[in-house]
Amino acid sequence: SFPCEHLFDVGFNVFVIILLVYLNNVDIDLSLRQPGYLHNLLPDSAPDHPETVEQVLDDVKTKILPGLTHWQSPTFFAYYPSNSSVAGFLGEMLSAGLGIVGFSWVTSPAATELEMIVLDWLAKLLNLPEQFLSKGNGGGVIQGSASEAILVAMIGARDKVLRRVGKNALGKLVVYSSDQTHSALRKACQIAGIHPENCKVLKADSSTNYALRPELLQEAVSKDLEAGSIPFFLCGNVGTTSSTAVDPLAALGKIAKSNEIWFHVDAAYAGSACICPEYRQYIDGVETADSFNMNAHKWFLTNFDCSLLWVKDQYALTEALSTNPEYLKNKASQANLVVDYKDWQIPLGRRFRSLKLWMVLRLYGAETLKNYIRNHIKLAKDLEQLVSQDPNFEVVTPRIFSLVCFRIVPVDNDEKKCNDRNRNLLDAVNSSGKLFLSHTALSGKIVLRCAIGAPLTEEKHVKEAWKVIQEEASYLLRK
Ligand code: PLP
Repeated sequence: SFPCEHLFDVGFNVFVIILLVYLNNVDIDLSLRQPGYLHNLLPDSAPDHPETVEQVLDDVKTKILPGLTHWQSPTFFAYYPSNSSVAGFLGEMLSAGLGIVGFSWVTSPAATELEMIVLDWLAKLLNLPEQFLSKGNGGGVIQGSASEAILVAMIGARDKVLRRVGKNALGKLVVYSSDQTHSALRKACQIAGIHPENCKVLKADSSTNYALRPELLQEAVSKDLEAGSIPFFLCGNVGTTSSTAVDPLAALGKIAKSNEIWFHVDAAYAGSACICPEYRQYIDGVETADSFNMNAHKWFLTNFDCSLLWVKDQYALTEALSTNPEYLKNKASQANLVVDYKDWQIPLGRRFRSLKLWMVLRLYGAETLKNYIRNHIKLAKDLEQLVSQDPNFEVVTPRIFSLVCFRIVPVDNDEKKCNDRNRNLLDAVNSSGKLFLSHTALSGKIVLRCAIGAPLTEEKHVKEAWKVIQEEASYLLRK
């Protein structure tokens, strides 16, 4: 008697199509992906009457799939991964089918409580300090993205400091990060009303493998204090987007603490690896942080979106973000007996995202997840070795996790020509349709990024990818 019960079968069909695409390794015709290509293939307006599922799915196969970049392909190495898994997919289906909106505890008690439990589970797997657990003042919350996590932390920190120094001091508040920090921080500053000149971007270079030097932070903070500014927010990195740089959390946190600066740690990609005891060292010092973020939707087999944010002081968030209109009042909230996650995030409505993370943790178990991560890191290590054995190439920064940053070496020290050559290599490799890489710039060098982390990637895919890269490079070098 469930309305539209047949839609569950449709959901299953969609999943089968996606699997077939990958199993058949469908070639993407790049010519179809010119801007506006879909406008030429679909009608200008919605149909007046229902069409059949077969018609719609046929269009998905012939018109939509050719216009997709296959993030789940085993040879997708471009951006940090966005893992999909059977457990994650089942959780998504269940959540979509249940269709609850758990903004307050009362709107679906299990949704709020499962989120608290699952974030505590993961905090324990990461060996985060007790203050991040839900039993005291701290706790975890699922955001849609690392960008939202940074924004929410910054707004909590901003209002906390403004309560101390007075609302008029907004123009004096200063934010710090290295120049390797994700652009999400700048966006958060824009939204939070931080003056652009007060977003201090400190240089990190190859001498520290692009990690922020604590002396630079100390210098900048002291200078700003002398000038009458108010340092209030520091974003540290564990696994930067460009090159997986890891900032020295303990030393940065010490400076933050002694200057009453909120310390946020962005481990959006690399946080997942830190459930393995041998990689936990990269978040040593997290005990000095006020907030910590990792994206389970990147490298933790949990379908997009599922970004995990832990804070030590939940009241910093709720003071800044809570609203209490009459139409949302209820006994549990009024009595302060429950967590209402609407007050820990920007929107009101929220999906039942903890379900998929819970299913991933239960259906795979921590040991499988650790080995999953280790396998990708091993594949990246093997690739790093292959790159370093080829005299035409160099590894630009030492690999830490599963990202390899490399380039064709310059000839006659001509860095400009070298950059052009590496850009051409990227275009040639991606145009082959056999794999997908991306690039970044490190100290002015154009660098190719190979991020290994798709669930279906095996040794053979990495080896074949390297062969394509070598072949395209020799062709370019001959030219
Ligand atoms: N931080 C880091 C280190 C990232 O690598 C990324 C994206 O790749 C982000 C933040 C932004 O992530 P999101 O898309 O979840 O906002």
